[in-house]
Amino acid sequence: MIVMKFGGTSNRDAAAMANVLRIITTHLAERPVVVVSAIADATNDLEESARTAASGDASRGEEILTRLHARHLAMVDALVSDKARAENLSRVFSGYLKELTTLLHGLAILRELTSRTMDAICSYGERFSSRIVAAGLQECGVDAVWVDAKDFMLTDGNFGKALPVMEAVRSNLARVIAPLVKQRQVPVTQGFIGVTSSGAYTTMGRESSDFSASIIGAAMDAERVQIWTDVDGILTADPRMVPGVRKVRHMSFDEAFELSYFGAKVLHPNTMLPLLEKNIPVEVRNSRREEGTGTLIDQPDPSEAVAPAVKSISFSADVTVVSLSPRKRTNQYLFWDGVFSVLSRSGIDVRTVTTSEYRIAFTIAGSYDSSAVIPRLEEFGPVTVFPEQASLCIVGSGLRGWKEFAGRVFGALAGVKTALIAYGASGLNMTVVVDRRDLEDALVRLHREFFGSSTPSGEFDVPRN
Ligand code: ASP
Ligand code: MG
Repeated sequence: MIVMKFGGTSNRDAAAMANVLRIITTHLAERPVVVVSAIADATNDLEESARTAASGDASRGEEILTRLHARHLAMVDALVSDKARAENLSRVFSGYLKELTTLLHGLAILRELTSRTMDAICSYGERFSSRIVAAGLQECGVDAVWVDAKDFMLTDGNFGKALPVMEAVRSNLARVIAPLVKQRQVPVTQGFIGVTSSGAYTTMGRESSDFSASIIGAAMDAERVQIWTDVDGILTADPRMVPGVRKVRHMSFDEAFELSYFGAKVLHPNTMLPLLEKNIPVEVRNSRREEGTGTLIDQPDPSEAVAPAVKSISFSADVTVVSLSPRKRTNQYLFWDGVFSVLSRSGIDVRTVTTSEYRIAFTIAGSYDSSAVIPRLEEFGPVTVFPEQASLCIVGSGLRGWKEFAGRVFGALAGVKTALIAYGASGLNMTVVVDRRDLEDALVRLHREFFGSSTPSGEFDVPRN
């Protein structure tokens, strides 16, 4: 069997969803399990309605919900002609709207929004969309079965960034989904959402439907996991920033992990983790250009050990660099230990770290409110904060041993002010932090250095450097 995951933009509207249904029908022989994201912007709308209600304005929150509900109903109208089926969906959707409205009223009264409630509210996006996909497939004559992720995706209770309890998920899937696949039915379920042992909805973080698909793929020993999106695959850089980007034909799990961890939006970074252990390949494919072969992610290509190559350059447009040194120069390792315990206790996701004898500098996401943690770090010594930075991550194989690599990076970036550089830990990436206003320039220069500046046409392999 295979897992087919469709993202929000693939389900933007009825026409896009009709295309998704058609793609699924062309893969029936491979026994797909279908994982669906919420339709485009639905999760943003749900979050916004919750925040608006919690600020006291339930009626504006409700307006957002009413529009979202109407968008789903319009899709049902366009895709489901069987009367009983359409009526059933509209009844289910009215129920969803009613539950959501009740939740918003609660928020407006309490003026409080916990991550637990936020997860409950956000779970409706995927529940709406997956219902339509299941019904739409039935309209096409496919024996599709809607499956509630609550019936198998057991997670911890870390709302907003829950992680699966793999053993339980595996046995639940064997019980709930495997028999359907065996009978050649097509299970359609939700990405992103899970459930605690006490039955509360959780989510695994924004954009985590990819992760859901890979959890299911790994737990069910799928032949492969397909991530259907709106770009041709993993690209050499973000096409909105860089002219002449190319599609990457093949990437290793580790490269894809580095790339998404350091900012590339195409895949959720956790996606690779469950698959790596089982060696299950991922295909990233374009639902609007189905004929393309996409990007294949699996084991490293042995030829790359001989010929190093930059595969792609990702970025985070908003990072903060924090740098500190100890007031007293005693044992260096005690200083580092102290700093890292403060960071881990504060739940800060540190991306890049560099050290000198008695100084440490690291990056955190710019969106992170560091006001509470800085005073605790200041207990060790003076702290300097550099806001409005951006990080660029050059990813590829064999970078560490490649003689020309560093020279080419620095040559390309000549004249650009760099705040921090990290290189050599894995041999798979170099991270360079620059002023945010220099990001685009730096990205274009690096891309030109490693991929040339030709205009793309059709599909490309990454050239050997
Ligand atoms: N719908 C969720 C989000 O927008 C999850 C996903 O799309 O992967 O973040
Ligand atoms: Mg995505």
